[in-house]
Amino acid sequence: MKQPKLVYANARGEVMNHHRYLPTGRTGAYLTDIEPAEWIPLPKGATLAWLPGTRVIGVRPDTGEMVQLEGDTYAVGALLPQGFTRLYLPGYVKRSRDAEPLPLFGYTAVGWLDGEFVVAADATDNPDLWDPSAIADGEVEAAVERILAEHPENRLYAHLSHCALGYGCLTAKNTFLGRLEGALPISSTCNAACVGCISEQPDDAPFPSPQVRLNFRPTVDELVDVMMTHIRRNPQGIVSFGQGCEGEPATRWPDIVQSIRRVREQTSDGYININTNGGLTRPLQAIVDAGLDLMRVSIISALPDHYNAYYKPRGYGVENVAATLRYAAEQGVYTSINYLVFPGVTDREEEVEAMVEFLRDTGVRLVQMRNLNIDPEYYMERIPAQRGELLGMKQVMDIFRSECPGLDVGSYTHVPPVRRK
Ligand code: SF4
Repeated sequence: MKQPKLVYANARGEVMNHHRYLPTGRTGAYLTDIEPAEWIPLPKGATLAWLPGTRVIGVRPDTGEMVQLEGDTYAVGALLPQGFTRLYLPGYVKRSRDAEPLPLFGYTAVGWLDGEFVVAADATDNPDLWDPSAIADGEVEAAVERILAEHPENRLYAHLSHCALGYGCLTAKNTFLGRLEGALPISSTCNAACVGCISEQPDDAPFPSPQVRLNFRPTVDELVDVMMTHIRRNPQGIVSFGQGCEGEPATRWPDIVQSIRRVREQTSDGYININTNGGLTRPLQAIVDAGLDLMRVSIISALPDHYNAYYKPRGYGVENVAATLRYAAEQGVYTSINYLVFPGVTDREEEVEAMVEFLRDTGVRLVQMRNLNIDPEYYMERIPAQRGELLGMKQVMDIFRSECPGLDVGSYTHVPPVRRK
């Protein structure tokens, strides 16, 4: 099989391919070759980013030797849309130890093959549902205008209009278009302080959080208004507490319980989901008892030292997260994990063994592979040293499927196969 050519950028961010060298990838801190079969065409909706402060590494095809590209040349990474799992990071080294950390994105290795860009990734789920280009121009703007006019008092719609039009958040857009999964941000506080939190970073952090947390407390009336409007327009739709523009939703569990009860008094249509870190077990049990349909727990590792180093949890640990998932599954809630994955860490033997045990113990039904959005050096300097054998990201997904019968591996929240009784 033909190998792609190396892709790099100059200091103006112009992307070009090398006429001879082949690309490298990275798994954790290790540079590596990439097998021809591990490349796929650049997906629709993906974007390319040049990586300041880096020096790109290529392979001489005649000798197999790895070489640094000289001059003003930089690495390029692809930012993948939903539906794709990154297999390798771009092949580069930082130009200096004090190079600025890269912004919070999930950088993937890129190549050039037969006139097109290719990426080192796996097509893990149907990308069409979350393809940003599937929404016609002007459609969101018109829907936002209409909904804001129909719900002038609802501050949540006003907040989500910024998310939809400003950040381009797909879940916020769905909320105005009445399709698929709608957003219900509710909380500005969190019981964790993740290293790569996308809604809040400490003042001294070297990069800003891509989103800003909502700064008001939506009322139960405002929440029920958004939930009922979405479900009436889309009886198979999902409404989700826990969005990128907030903290931990379960910190406001009494209002979530009330909202679920008020919606279920009016309709049995639609699906009510919560995206959570799973740490507040008792409050989340109350939310389950109120009639929750789906629960997605965000997790980076089942190993306490790694989990604690990344999440910096306040007053809980991985065992609480497991207890939350176990209870929800026992009560018939369709449970999934939002698995923050990173080549060279996730596919370590000890991580995979611990996660297989966690999945079996908690009865999780779906693993959503989420490419971790963070500067690789910044992340790896803040977690325990990785030890075990590297298995490869594709193998990780195969192992989950073979070791946990009935488990699905995908990329985003799906309508459950059966409705909770
Ligand atoms: S659990 Fe979510 S909101 Fe809380 S710190 Fe982590 S990423 Fe941020």
